[in-house]
Amino acid sequence: MSSPYRQLPSVDALLRTVEQRANGDALPRDLLVEAARATLDQARAAVAAGDVTQPLERLADEALAYARQALRPSLRPVINATGVIIQTNLGRAPLSDAAVRAMHAIGAGYSNLEYDLEAGERGSRTIHLTRLLCRLSGAEDALAVNNNAAAIYLALITLAAGREVIISRGQAVEIGGGFRIPDVLRQSGATLVEVGTTNRTYTRDYAAAIGERTALLMRIHTSNFRLLGFVHETPLAELAALGRERGIPTLDDLGSGTLLPTAPYGLAPEPTVQESVAAGADLVTFSGDKLLGGPQAGLIVGRAGLIAQLRRHPLARALRVDKTTIAGLEATLLAYVRGTAIEDIPVWRMIAARPEHVRDRALRLVGRIPGATVEPCESAVGGGSLPGETLPSFALMLRSEHPDELARALRLSDPAVAGRIVAGQLALDMRTVLVEQEDALVAAVCRQMAG
Ligand SMILES: *Cc1c(COP(=O)(O)O)cnc(C)c1O
Repeated sequence: MSSPYRQLPSVDALLRTVEQRANGDALPRDLLVEAARATLDQARAAVAAGDVTQPLERLADEALAYARQALRPSLRPVINATGVIIQTNLGRAPLSDAAVRAMHAIGAGYSNLEYDLEAGERGSRTIHLTRLLCRLSGAEDALAVNNNAAAIYLALITLAAGREVIISRGQAVEIGGGFRIPDVLRQSGATLVEVGTTNRTYTRDYAAAIGERTALLMRIHTSNFRLLGFVHETPLAELAALGRERGIPTLDDLGSGTLLPTAPYGLAPEPTVQESVAAGADLVTFSGDKLLGGPQAGLIVGRAGLIAQLRRHPLARALRVDKTTIAGLEATLLAYVRGTAIEDIPVWRMIAARPEHVRDRALRLVGRIPGATVEPCESAVGGGSLPGETLPSFALMLRSEHPDELARALRLSDPAVAGRIVAGQLALDMRTVLVEQEDALVAAVCRQMAG
């Protein structure tokens, strides 16, 4: 009797079968060799554990799966059925068609990124977004950097290193992912001077703290939580007026920062960028990929003299945005200028979608999924904006003995689907599912429900 190990194919024999079964998929030779070896190692271990040897074809398919897995992108699309519109873990804002087209056009070729086409000489990458950001915000000048954390850092290190920044105690917050305003301040070399109390801070508190070393008055929009009850924060206009009187600039970190009002959609008013500029803030910082609905970026708008200082700081180079980001931001901002943001920008389309419309989409799909029902649910804006605020929505509800396992299987399917468990069922909120993903969603769910 031959040893069971002798029934295992050689690496070469396995490789030949793998290549036959690869269906013309051109996989790199060295990867296939690695896959064949790994598969045979496993097969040997199985034999050692007393298992029967798999047929050659089975081993070849295992090796193929190994090789294909190695070539599969780590970053891949997810269908967001969580109902959280700006989900940081799922990449925040999906981009508008116009933004994607612009990023493709600029990314795939050369551009006038730092080239003055009229003069035929070197230009500046920081000019491209200025015109639109100023038009939309009412500010004198504007600058885009890598993200809002970078925007705050650049502003602090440029304007307040070695000096003091006055912040209300109720605003010295953690924004998420361990990003804490007091830490950023320390990193920039500025000293935090906290004034007022957790729940109440008055203009006189700031006024009393101003001294020789004061560089900035800073307001932070406490975007991800809300204090209720006996609460007072100094209105931005009062803070900015105090700053002007004492010759100290005011920095307003809006976090999400929106150019459109949220109240028409049944949500609490989120402060707009224009309001902050009009209230007299000298610099306003906000994210590109939260309520703006564009690519990851940090936008800084405000007084020309201060923005010029930021632009000149050596760190501005380290925090600068690339050409595709500029292209995506410009296309996104243009939708606001044209007045088509609600229709064109996915984040706003989702916020503005009427519940009946979401329900109709769910009802059109439910018949294709055995055992599914349509139930009302609540969506959220997310992205550290509008805490506790929800939008009435509708979900496809999937009944399952093991909803956690179903949720996991859908996360691991291709494309991945992320839902949430509500009352022991897996809910797929249709508000955040893009229309063009509906068929893929149904197909993924049906595969898992059948399996
Ligand atoms: C989200 C947020 C930030 C950080 O913005 P990123 O673009 O993620 O760097 C800063 N401040 C506030 C208030 C925020 O909500």
